[in-house]
Amino acid sequence: MDTRTGLPVVGMVGGGQLARMTHQAAVALGQSLRVLSETPDDSAALVAADVRIGTHTDLAALREFAKGCDALTFDHEHVPTGHIAALAAEGVKIYPGAEAIVFAQDKRRMRERLSELGAPVPMWRPVSSAADIADFAAEVAAARTEAGGAVRTEAGGAAQAGTDSGAGWPVVAKAVRGGYDGRGVWMLADLAAAEELVATGTELIVEERVPLRRELAALVARSPFGQVAAYPVVETVQRDGICVEVLAPAPGLSEERALAAQQLAIDVAHALGVVGLLAVELFETEAGIVVNELAMRPHNSGHWTIEGARTSQFEQHLRAVLDYPMGETSLAAPAVVMANVLGGAPGGMTLDERLHHLFAADPGARVHLYGKQVRPGRKIGHVTVLGDDMTSVRARAVRAARWLQEGE
Ligand code: ADP
Repeated sequence: MDTRTGLPVVGMVGGGQLARMTHQAAVALGQSLRVLSETPDDSAALVAADVRIGTHTDLAALREFAKGCDALTFDHEHVPTGHIAALAAEGVKIYPGAEAIVFAQDKRRMRERLSELGAPVPMWRPVSSAADIADFAAEVAAARTEAGGAVRTEAGGAAQAGTDSGAGWPVVAKAVRGGYDGRGVWMLADLAAAEELVATGTELIVEERVPLRRELAALVARSPFGQVAAYPVVETVQRDGICVEVLAPAPGLSEERALAAQQLAIDVAHALGVVGLLAVELFETEAGIVVNELAMRPHNSGHWTIEGARTSQFEQHLRAVLDYPMGETSLAAPAVVMANVLGGAPGGMTLDERLHHLFAADPGARVHLYGKQVRPGRKIGHVTVLGDDMTSVRARAVRAARWLQEGE
């Protein structure tokens, strides 16, 4: 507790934009987020008052950081589970716990656990050789033939196969650990590609290439008390493995499917004992939904909630880790779109000049910049637009983000 205010202190490990935006939410709750940052120039370290410099792999630094915090949480999923368990054993309230976060760190464990829980997942397999990958491709082909040109999911649903029927290829290989924004995901066209990847020594799983219609995300928060709150299901639009737009609510999603996705996320949160936010990234196929992956922290698919929902995901995460009752999750407008601003090519107008132009062109666009150095392709901010009509709201959000990115 901060004795000056009588209000709790939450420590967040990691100083990226998620910590920066959580800090903003903390301010409204009368708090100030304590941040463990790698450098003083990290996104959250630039704005928070209580910044400690240290690294998340250093148990002694984590221990020191935890002193005086009411709860500890994370802006990323890279803290070793051994460290999390050690701190919890010493009485630190640290959320999500080691037994939950492991499923966000390790794609193999995540797939195993979700399969056990009966959650819909793509066909998948851990592999250690190119021959394993070829066997898996053959298995996918056999399943497609058996299903009469349809792809079965493990939940028993059936979806139309894509046009690629080349004996199960391409398959999707994923690094078991450490991937993000599509790094650590490889589309393998054939055995030669599999051989090349296996030669790198990366620990891998492979999955069928899901014939996806689009990608969705279901975001929920869960408190230690076990209360859960679910946000409206959104559509996430990816380019080159990076999320570029989020549409809330997911346009044209049936009520039935939206409820199923929310229920799935709630069930997973309870089953894994998640405390804080859980984002379930989903693929929508003709037949239903399958889980792509899990994140246990504020998530890019929830940035729209800052203006677009009654309670932002960042405040909800704080409420959850402090065991406050959850806030309302309903939409603040019929259509909300968030577009990420990625670093553009160097040169041209400064970011400041671009902002002048953008604000003149669209006074309703809500801009969030993360104070990060601009590097091509790096997420440096996002824009959110609210309105009545999804098509026009989306066009405005995309235009605003492109303007900040490219200055044109
Ligand atoms: P990361 O952890 O790097 O975000 P993901 O597992 O989310 O990686 O995969 C990145 C993107 O690759 C997904 O958003 C999706 O577009 C595509 N992808 C991943 N797995 C599959 C799959 N099994 N079938 C089809 N596309 C996939």
